[in-house]
Amino acid sequence: MISGATRSAGVIGLPIRHSLSPAIFNAAFSASGLDWAYLAFEVPEGAAGLAMAGVRSLGLEGVSVTMPHKAAVISALDELADDADALGAVNCVARRGTTLIGHNTDGPGFVDSLRLDEGMDPAGRSFAVLGAGGAARAVVRALGRAGASEVVVVNRSAGPAEQAAAFAGAVGRVGVAEDAGEADVVVNATPLGMGIVVSRTGDPEPMPIDPALLQAGQIVVDLVYHPALTPLAEAARARGIRTVNGLGMLIHQAAHAFRTWTSEEPPLEAMSAAAVAALLHRGQEMH
Ligand code: NAP
Repeated sequence: MISGATRSAGVIGLPIRHSLSPAIFNAAFSASGLDWAYLAFEVPEGAAGLAMAGVRSLGLEGVSVTMPHKAAVISALDELADDADALGAVNCVARRGTTLIGHNTDGPGFVDSLRLDEGMDPAGRSFAVLGAGGAARAVVRALGRAGASEVVVVNRSAGPAEQAAAFAGAVGRVGVAEDAGEADVVVNATPLGMGIVVSRTGDPEPMPIDPALLQAGQIVVDLVYHPALTPLAEAARARGIRTVNGLGMLIHQAAHAFRTWTSEEPPLEAMSAAAVAALLHRGQEMH
């Protein structure tokens, strides 16, 4: 029950009404018996600084940050944790008294989803990461730090690919689509698969890679979680290849934020169940 003593947190972004974060965090607070509440705030582009002034003045405990504010919010913060500083992107802000600290929990969330949900340690494995945007950079950096043997970035634009590959350090390099057939794990970090990329000719959305390049024994991780099974994952499965979707990463990046804000262990099962329920509800609304 919300009272005058309830502590508050939230997410800023645009668009934000589709966000699963309110369902995930409110379920987590409830399962942990914490008197906290979490809301979604639609913050226009260019207004992240004003939103942070609001966090300070209203005393929110923390906020999640999503597009288009992940980089812009930085100038309104007092400190950055390592990942956020290196990536130049923040997805979680924690308030400690009057100090606002920016974190980036996407990379650790990705690695946790492999280790904890899939029983797969990235150490010693080779990865091909398709895409070179914010998610790809976080994943590439986390894989480099987790001891991956090689991280090959495959992207349509060369400059971003170079920049992303550098985040893995010595094990990172830019590659071509054919390299994905050689990696132990292929990660789709492009939006292809969400059904939002519309071609000018009206053709169906392309896949991030030709599935014919995939080999038996590989694992395909698609950061997209809606739909739960993308055309790439479906094609991989048809070839007998194990697939993982992005819901685990979403839950585990939220789990890191929960831990940072509350200093308590996150109730992962309650968070996953809430995300799945919210996705089912969204699916029903769309039909
Ligand atoms: P982003 O910064 O916009 O980067 C998108 C990347 O995809 C860019 O490298 C871009 O290539 C490439 N791309 C976009 N459209 C393409 C196309 N038509 N053909 C080939 N490449 C294309 O996006 P992001 O924030 O990294 O997000 C990427 C995906 O990850 C999204 O689907 C997002 O929902 C998902 N994601 C999931 C989680 C999770 O928790 N599961 C977290 C974060 C993101 P260029 O460099 O050439 O432009």
